[in-house]
Amino acid sequence: MLEYQAAKDLLKNKIILVTGAGDGIGRAAAIEFAQHGATVILLGKTVKKLEKVYDEIIHAGYPTPAIVPLDLKGATEQNYIDMAETIAEQFGHLDGLLHNASQLGALGPFEHIDLTSLETIMKVNVTAQAIMTKALLPVMRKAPHASIIFTSSSVGRKGRAYWGPYAFSKFATEGMMQVLADECDETHVRVNSINPGATRTEMRAKAYPAEDPQTLKTAKEIMPTYLFLMGDESIGTNGQAFNAQS
Ligand code: NDP
Repeated sequence: MLEYQAAKDLLKNKIILVTGAGDGIGRAAAIEFAQHGATVILLGKTVKKLEKVYDEIIHAGYPTPAIVPLDLKGATEQNYIDMAETIAEQFGHLDGLLHNASQLGALGPFEHIDLTSLETIMKVNVTAQAIMTKALLPVMRKAPHASIIFTSSSVGRKGRAYWGPYAFSKFATEGMMQVLADECDETHVRVNSINPGATRTEMRAKAYPAEDPQTLKTAKEIMPTYLFLMGDESIGTNGQAFNAQS
């Protein structure tokens, strides 16, 4: 989808929530969505990073975003219900939800899997996304058309040695996408997943410390698929697993 070219005002008047909006791919997506006219709700755990993205969006003259500081590791169902109520009060509806935040954890042999770390990764990468989506669905159904994007990975589509809980969590993400997409079929909510592919971010550098980051696509370069799935040109596209780099 690298060749997709979005109209300048593709996301005009849309309200879009991006998780992990302070860094990496989430940061790039938030700025790109705002540049295309969306009011972006920036969710993440490091407030300073969110404030920097906020300032960048304001400085560029894009629609004023909102900030939701939330650590998905400790968040409760009530946090998501409260967030959904605030969005309903402030904006009336939600047009887009990009589930992007996730944790890599430690890579290594299966016998070295640490229970605490396994539980944290499943909480942040899977449970939080399920419960957040559950809370936000009513306010998304109030939008004329709504798009939910889950973020997958190559190791969530084919298992790979030593990728441990991160890989299981991404298979679960694909499963969640398929279940929800099937439930939403023939409705005005569409649900898809994106595998970003190797992208120049902190997470990638942690997974491949010996790699030269300059050989990788930047987060900005992989945005066409994200724009396509958030924009109205993807209405009717549901339950599909996309690759951002092919
Ligand atoms: P980064 O680690 O660069 O950014 C992840 C973002 O998620 C950060 O903003 C981080 O916030 C946030 N985040 C992490 N944990 C939590 C939490 N507990 N609560 C709230 N926010 C949290 O990752 P990438 O940008 O590389 O990855 C984005 C997505 O793309 C992930 O789902 C990843 O699995 C996927 N992906 C990435 C690939 C790549 O090559 N980069 C390849 C395949 C998939 P903070 O900065 O505050 O910690």
